[in-house]
Amino acid sequence: MLFELDDEQQEMRDVVRKFAQNEIAPHADSWDDEHHFPREIFKPLAELGLAGLLIPEEYGGLNLSRLMGAIIYEELAQADSSTSTWLSVHNMVAGLINRFGNDEQRQRWLPGMASGDLLGAFSLSEAHAGSDAANLRTSARREGDHYIVNGSKFWVTNAGQADVYTVMVRTDPNGGSKGISTLVIEKDTPGFSIGKIERKMGLNSDPTGELIFENCRVPVSHRLSDEGMGFKIALTALDGGRINIGASSVGLAQAAFDVATRYAKERQAFGKPIGAFQGIQFMLADMAMKIQAARLLVYQAASKYDDGAPDATMSAAMAKCFATDTAMAVTTDAVQVLGGAGYVRDWPVERYMREAKVGQIVEGANQIQRMVIARALLGRLDG
Ligand SMILES: Cc1cc2nc3c(=O)[nH]c(=O)nc-3n(C[C@H](O)[C@H](O)[C@H](O)COP(=O)(O)OP(=O)(O)OC[C@H]3O[C@@H](n4cnc5c(N)ncnc54)[C@H](O)[C@@H]3O)c2cc1C
Repeated sequence: MLFELDDEQQEMRDVVRKFAQNEIAPHADSWDDEHHFPREIFKPLAELGLAGLLIPEEYGGLNLSRLMGAIIYEELAQADSSTSTWLSVHNMVAGLINRFGNDEQRQRWLPGMASGDLLGAFSLSEAHAGSDAANLRTSARREGDHYIVNGSKFWVTNAGQADVYTVMVRTDPNGGSKGISTLVIEKDTPGFSIGKIERKMGLNSDPTGELIFENCRVPVSHRLSDEGMGFKIALTALDGGRINIGASSVGLAQAAFDVATRYAKERQAFGKPIGAFQGIQFMLADMAMKIQAARLLVYQAASKYDDGAPDATMSAAMAKCFATDTAMAVTTDAVQVLGGAGYVRDWPVERYMREAKVGQIVEGANQIQRMVIARALLGRLDG
């Protein structure tokens, strides 16, 4: 059981913290205001190895553990949870190509992804298929050594910015979840275009949008693993993705807590700092407790994933669900501690609160996480 970071973990955390606090945090508010995707920090992040967390060294990556990844995402999210989100999606895609791709595919995409030249995106959801993702309809019909892809995908993080999209498509119309395959589709492929970019509550510096495929010809050699493996690949990605979202949520909650604590010591009311009032003290104590519990759950889930533990999927669901619920509660309370100052944009806590909400929805909404946990505990009782 892990309670303290070892020397190597602390060293990496400190490097990331320094970069995040100096190069990211000062810009997070304006990037959000201006809806600016900070592509300019992708290369510097890659130079620290952070664009190749799951890429083997022979392709230019660091090949780190999930636990180390969780520590890194926590630090990045303390500076800007939007950056942590888009980078974690990128690393998730690289991890899938490494795990399910062949040598040729790894050689084609991984070095560029590790060096910060190619940005990744992951596309499972469709307009009518979010939680019920196996119901997706975007079709890929085989024609010789190509697939002809038709349909549209929704809510894709990094849409329009990414260079390499892993797209779950239906290769067998009657195959249910076993009729889904994963294609890697490059941004300039004829027949592929970007549709609507969503206007969102938060994470405004990272585009979320639609992918449109109109008779898009994708080489069969760009399929990861066998036909029919796509849903399994997506679920594998989500286990890791959930740990990352959990870690980012811990970082976001910590950032909100730090602002609230500082404010509670400085802000005066009735002749005292507001932190002298028990009503504020108990809020801060609850926030600190929840953050620490969430952090430990995330670290435990990451360690179980690294060890291939049989309950790794349940642990990832627990960590994601608890950490994102914690971030929502803590950021909401941080706004309350700051009072009116919390509601206006002079302070970052209103942004933190807007950003926390999405964690409860993405990578499987928290109701779905509870279903995953209950199924692991009870088995399938509904036939
Ligand atoms: C900012 C953002 C970024 C995203 N990025 C990506 C991305 O990069 N790639 C990608 O593929 N997708 C992405 N998504 C989509 C995201 O994964 C889905 O929104 C999510 O899976 C929920 O699906 P849905 O929105 O269709 O909700 P629905 O499935 O319509 O669910 C609506 C509500 O019903 C609940 N619900 C559904 N089924 C059940 C059930 N059986 N029992 C109890 N409650 C249930 C849900 O929990 C939710 O509260 C993103 C979404 C957002 C908002």
